[in-house]
Amino acid sequence: MATMLLKGQTALVTGGSSGIGRAIATAMAAAGATVAVNHRAGAERAAKLVDDILSAGGSAFAVEADVSDEATIERMFEEIITRCGRLDILVANAGLQMDASFQAMSLADWRKVIDVNLTGQFLCARAAVRQFLAQEELPHLSRARGKIICMSSVHEVIPWAGHVNYAASKGGVMLMMKSLAQEVARERIRVNGIAPGAIRTPINREAWETPEGLEKLLRLIPYGRIGEPEDVAKAAVWLASDESDYITGTSLFVDGGMTLYPGFEDNG
Ligand code: NAP
Repeated sequence: MATMLLKGQTALVTGGSSGIGRAIATAMAAAGATVAVNHRAGAERAAKLVDDILSAGGSAFAVEADVSDEATIERMFEEIITRCGRLDILVANAGLQMDASFQAMSLADWRKVIDVNLTGQFLCARAAVRQFLAQEELPHLSRARGKIICMSSVHEVIPWAGHVNYAASKGGVMLMMKSLAQEVARERIRVNGIAPGAIRTPINREAWETPEGLEKLLRLIPYGRIGEPEDVAKAAVWLASDESDYITGTSLFVDGGMTLYPGFEDNG
């Protein structure tokens, strides 16, 4: 059995029914947390995941909400507090890409990505901070009053042509995370980011599903393999646990060295 690093805590994972969010929900439940699995379109996938977690002896339930909609987020938090009485961990993970060359990018595609990837994290983090401050502290469960993990990307630092809306959203997530971490550190709320490199999920399927695509991708990854959702999930459990209690305001890169600029390995 996995070490119960999150025993007795309640976690919300947005975008929890697919890819990285799914792996985090599974790992946090295995670490002893009750997990609220947020989904938008993926109701069936969320229900299946909840079943899997329950069958494995864990605790989870599904909650529907579009993270870019303020009223829906407030309702989702009310539902979680009604069911669990408290929230200890937010993983603001939901995100999407709507790629286009810059000259072809519509305002709607720009706004959608910023609304979900950046404003969605703002709305969820604000609701989480309000809840952390309102509820009783339980130091035997967690040294911090609450923990927030913002799912960013290596594209918080690596520019990405053809994906300007996505890179702008992740750059925004990084400074939102750090500024919020600074603002709430005295309340002993920890806020950190995870910046994954290329992880095998539906969001980037075309980059890894053909041998040619994978070969091209691996040129960008010094460690020589694509990341798996579980690589990110292990980092998330650790960042949410007392094992990382002195860490706040940090981006943890989980990228097999992608941010080591491998293009310079034998160049310059
Ligand atoms: P994914 O499998 O496509 O999952 C994305 C999740 O976001 C889905 O569960 C989706 O839920 C949810 N979502 C999208 N719009 C939403 C909305 N408006 N409200 C609520 N949920 C919404 O992709 P993933 O790779 O796991 O991505 C998860 C996060 O990791 C994203 O923030 C992404 O930017 C980041 N990331 C991924 C990679 C990678 O290589 N895969 C690298 C760096 C960063 P529904 O299906 O229910 O709509």
